[in-house]
Parts: sequence; structure tokens; C-alpha cells
Amino acid sequence: EKEKVWFRHYPESIPATLEYPDVPITYYLEKAAADFPDLEAIHFMGKRMTYRQLLEDVYRLAQSLRELGVQKGERVSIMLPNSPQSVISYYAVLLLGGIVVQTNPMYKERELEHQLKDSGAETVICLDQVYHQVAKVKTSTSVKQVIVTSIKDYLPFPKNWLYPLKVKKEGMDIDIPYGEGIHSFSQLLKKALSEPVPSQVDSLDEVALLQYTGGTTGLPKGAMLTHRNILVNVIQCNAWMYKGKRGQEKSLGIVPLFHVYGMTVMMNYSVYLAATMILMPRFDAEETLKLIQKERPTLFPGAPTIYVALINHPKISEYDLSSIHACLSGSAPLPLMVQEEFEKRIGGRLVEGYGLTESSPVTHANPIWDRRKNGSIGLPWPDTDCRIVDPSTGEEVAEGEMGVLQVRGPQVMKGYWNQEEETSKTIRDGWLHTGDIGTMDEEGYFYIMDRQKDMIIAGGFNIYPREVEEVLYDHPGVQEAAVVGVPDPYRGETVKAFVVLKPDHSLTEEELQVYCREKLANFKVPRLYEFRDELPKTTVGKVLRRVLAEEERKKVQSE
Ligand code: AMP
Repeated sequence: EKEKVWFRHYPESIPATLEYPDVPITYYLEKAAADFPDLEAIHFMGKRMTYRQLLEDVYRLAQSLRELGVQKGERVSIMLPNSPQSVISYYAVLLLGGIVVQTNPMYKERELEHQLKDSGAETVICLDQVYHQVAKVKTSTSVKQVIVTSIKDYLPFPKNWLYPLKVKKEGMDIDIPYGEGIHSFSQLLKKALSEPVPSQVDSLDEVALLQYTGGTTGLPKGAMLTHRNILVNVIQCNAWMYKGKRGQEKSLGIVPLFHVYGMTVMMNYSVYLAATMILMPRFDAEETLKLIQKERPTLFPGAPTIYVALINHPKISEYDLSSIHACLSGSAPLPLMVQEEFEKRIGGRLVEGYGLTESSPVTHANPIWDRRKNGSIGLPWPDTDCRIVDPSTGEEVAEGEMGVLQVRGPQVMKGYWNQEEETSKTIRDGWLHTGDIGTMDEEGYFYIMDRQKDMIIAGGFNIYPREVEEVLYDHPGVQEAAVVGVPDPYRGETVKAFVVLKPDHSLTEEELQVYCREKLANFKVPRLYEFRDELPKTTVGKVLRRVLAEEERKKVQSE
């Protein structure tokens, strides 16, 4: 292992191999509560909860779930926005040896039904505001009981901060038909605790979560992440990212905890560090700036679009962001301009990392203090092996050449839930096929050029949308850009750019085209432009090129 080229560029303090304790992740919650009982574990909308309170609530909920018949290995869907309840539910289910099914609270009936059917979840823990979605699919899935929480009945929620889902009427109480099979979260937490609930996890190789993802083929599948997978990624993160001081850090939780990135880098890592989690149920640039100034977080994991929104906020320079010591940007490429601008505000230390659901998620990151390379996703983390292969032959390519990135390591999932064929296509001999096209340079730094599926072929030329997007982002009038291939009778596909302009800027198609022609080979220059107010995004703020491409395909079909 030691001769791998990237190990030569590891900072001295980081070994190529780490020691992993044989404990489930819930151990760190118990340890935080034992060592720092009165330390704030969660700050949420002005309310605070200590580690002692958090652990007690986790025990109480676990005790109640056990009484309600939740057994080891059983799937429990958690359908909550970032909130104390989401953290409590997650740890309670893990403690019982249950399998957490992370459910996006924005899911509509069809998506929800698919996920609940596929996972076979019998219990759903959800917010009152989405109960009606769960009720609709109750009879067509294996759901037997629903535990409903209201952010209001647990921790008051200011009116103008209502959760972004469309509520029937603002501020209105939602009537939940509590009774047989429908329980109130806060009532369950009121039951007296007889004794701490011991962890039911016997082996770290047991499945802890089903994390649904499109993977490389697009059908939502449940990535089975084991207790070991998620523990390992936290230890790797700690070794690499930031020598966090236990009991002294505060992390800003904007990325959703139900996404693998927020779960590991935000929630699990914070609990490991006994850090205060400052949670936000939805992103709002100005509220974020205010919160940073007031609560002074030291860690801020985010995604490029979050940093984009902050640097473009007209009042950013009025706020003091100096408490932030480290930011890890993941989930999508971080445009260089965005990195530089944000670093100016916090004094450096925004590094780019890379990962995917199937690897719990992080596999690469730039070193945080030195030796980083901008534009690169950095070096593979300890115990993580990587290679770039030719997609047609499966052979490893030479340094500097492009191919598909494959990774192998203890954070790689066990497989997809009930999908043996998909699993064997995705993991071969321990190598996880990421579906991302990239290169490795002579020093072992990796670069992601694009997704295998997103590559555009126009007139026989391969075009990586990301390269064109980088050019657009550099234009002073452009706030966001996404580039897709649209069907074209002559060139097969042609390049189209979707652009969001900065406030108070105007630009024409012609101006943008002239600008792109100066920076890009002709075949890469977008021939079509569309200005929009916003771009479709995933919950972590990743621009959904696929949605844009699909819209274009439909337009062509209907013509
Ligand atoms: P998910 O499974 O939702 O976390 O998405 C994983 C995918 O996000 C990867 O396969 C990449 O395509 C993309 N991704 C994550 N981090 C980066 C990054 N730093 N640069 C480019 N793409 C990224």
C-alpha cells in the first residue's frame, strides 16, 4: 500500500492506515454525554439542548420504539428536516439495531411509496406537515405505525420560519388522528426512563442504514451502509480534515442530515467531537450569515451552491464570519472563483472533497492546511485505494489520462438492498465503480471531470459540461450555470447553457457566446442559452443537470 503515489504527499501527521475502534457510532453519543453532560449538543432556532438531554431523549425514544415492537434489523423510515427530532430518531433506531431508512421529507406520494415498499419499513417517524403524504401510502406499503412530531410541540418554531413544505395554512395546527398506529413523538418522550437502553448491535458489519440513491443507473436503490462503514468515515474525516478539539467545536448544519453527506460529516462527526450542532431546517443566506455571526460555528460543511449564495449576498461584508476554521465542500464541483471568494471572507480553509452515497460518503479531500491543489478533489483518504480505468476495457489507464474512477476501502457499502444484480455491476472485487470520469496527476491528486452519463457528444467531440460551466462561472455577471447536451439533428447533441444572472446584471445570449468563444474551443461553446431565475437542485444543492436535459429531450419529442 505504501508505494501508492498519493501517500508521498500525505501531510506527515496523517498515517496511510488508521485504527478503528470496535464500537457502534452511538458509543460516541454516550461518551459525549458522559464527558460533557452540560455542553450544548444542539442549538436549534434559538433553543438549546445539552448532551445529557439529547442522550436521555434518545434512550426514551428507543425505549418507546421497543415497546411499540420495533426489532433489531427492522427498517424505520425517518422523514424529518434537520431538527433535534431527526438526531434523536436516528440515534434511537441505531441503538436498537434497527435500520434507518433516510427519507427526504419533500418526497411526494410516488417517491415515498417506492422507498417504503422497497425498504419494507413498518415504522415511519415524520413531521406533522408531511403526515398526509404518509397517510396516502399507508395501505399500499408495509407501514404499520407512524410517529408524528411537530417542530412546534417540541421546540417552538418562529412563524416566519415555517418549514418550507407547503403548509395548509401558515401557523395552523395540523390535526393528526392520533390513536391506533399513530403516535405522538412528544408523548413517547414523556414516558419515564427505566434504565439506559443498551446497544443491540452485535457486529459492526450489521446494516445501519439504507441510504437511497440513483447511483449510476438512475433507479432509486437503498445503499446498505453498515455500522462499520459510517464509523470508519468519521474516523477518516477526523484524521484528515481537522484536528477538532473534543468539546470545543461548533458545527453549522445546513446540509440535510438525511443525506449521507450531512449525516456523516455533520451529525456523526459532530457527535464524535462532542461538538455543538447548530441546525437549520432550511437554507436562507441572510439567516445563515446572522447565525454564523451570533453562534460562531467553527466547522461548516457545505455544498457549492450554499457558498455561492453566501458570497453573492449583498450584505456579506457586514457580517463577521471569522469563527469558521474549516469548511468542506462536497457533493458537486466547487468552482474556483467560489472557493476564492468564500475564503476571502473566512481567511482560508475551504477545501473540496469528494464522495458518494455508496462510500458513506467521503473518499477524497484536499489536505486542509497545506499541499492542496485547487480544482482537484485532493488525495484519497487513509485506507482508501483508488484507480482510474478505461470504461471499455476495465484496464487501469496511465497517469493523466481520463477514465472512470473506482474506489476500494472500508467505507464502501455492503451493496444495494435486495438488488444483487445492481450490486455486482457496481462493486467488483471490492472496487466500487463511481460512474465519475476523472484523472489522477503524477502526485496522486484526483480530478473529477464529469459524470459518465453527463458527458455531451457533439459532432463526435466529447464535451465535459463542467469545463464549460467553470468558464461561465468566471463571468462577472453569472451567478450560476448548468450545461447540458440537447438533441441536435446534425451534431447528435449540441451544448446548451442555463444561466442565472447575478442581481442587477443583464447579459444577452450574444454577449455570453462571444465571451465563451474567447475561452473555449469552438466545439465546446454553447450554441443555446436560457436565462433562468433559479436552477433545479437536489436537497444538498447539487444542480440537477439531468432534470434540465430531460426537459430539453421532452421539448424536442413534442415538436
Ligand atoms: P451522492 O451519492 O448523492 O452523494 O452523489 C455522489 C456524486 O456526486 C458523485 O458520484 C459525483 O458525481 C458527485 N460529486 C461529489 N463530490 C464531488 C466533487 N467534489 N466534484 C465533482 N462531483 C462530485
